[in-house]
Amino acid sequence: MRLILLGPPGVGKGTQAVRVAGRFGVPHVSTGDLLRAALASRTEIGLTAKKFMEAGELVPDSVVLDLIRGRLGEPDAAGGFILDGFPRNAAQAESLGVLLEEIGGAVEAVVALEASDEALIARLSGRFSCPACNRVYNVHSNPPRRSGVCDEDSSELLQRSDDAEDVVRNRLRVYREQTEPLIAYYDARGLLARVAGAGEVGEITLRIERAVEEVRDRGSDAAAP
Ligand code: AMP
Repeated sequence: MRLILLGPPGVGKGTQAVRVAGRFGVPHVSTGDLLRAALASRTEIGLTAKKFMEAGELVPDSVVLDLIRGRLGEPDAAGGFILDGFPRNAAQAESLGVLLEEIGGAVEAVVALEASDEALIARLSGRFSCPACNRVYNVHSNPPRRSGVCDEDSSELLQRSDDAEDVVRNRLRVYREQTEPLIAYYDARGLLARVAGAGEVGEITLRIERAVEEVRDRGSDAAAP
């Protein structure tokens, strides 16, 4: 399965991408996680990305493309992947198409998770993640078993600095201006399903799985003689 999860910051893409990746048995590939890892290990990419990430702006396409090219070239991604946070603008979507042609395969489905800005801002303020395994929690909708501690590895959970309200507002603006147009881009290619991002975590996962099946059925109907 080669799936893209689109959606604004705070809609629950990361949480859902991990769950859906597990169901489909493919890796979860998040450019935000890759950039945060590069930043933590102080690589050149990480240092270049830092100021953009702190301001809630997009990191230059060439930087993100290098990361994604490396990650999708790894053996565990040969059978598919769930992309979370990439592509984020039209140029990245075009480059992804070219890259997938090179390495074999194409995007099979795009799920757009949707929510209002008010809901997103409220939700981001409750978001915490594990610095060791990157698992994301939300104190309201998806709390850890023990408050402030990761279920997987007992690390202390942290709030991201770019979840501060002024940065969140900028990230939402960037999303609406640059990323949201990709919904129409993939819709025009018959790959899109829209899924409401509000509700219980497990229920949303089911909605995504059903949406992926719908897109796949549409594709096979179109291919039928
Ligand atoms: P995320 O964890 O997906 O919300 O990403 C956090 C930050 O990383 C974003 O606000 C951007 O600064 C940067 N970033 C992540 N993915 C991309 C991308 N595909 N293109 C450009 N910047 C990105």
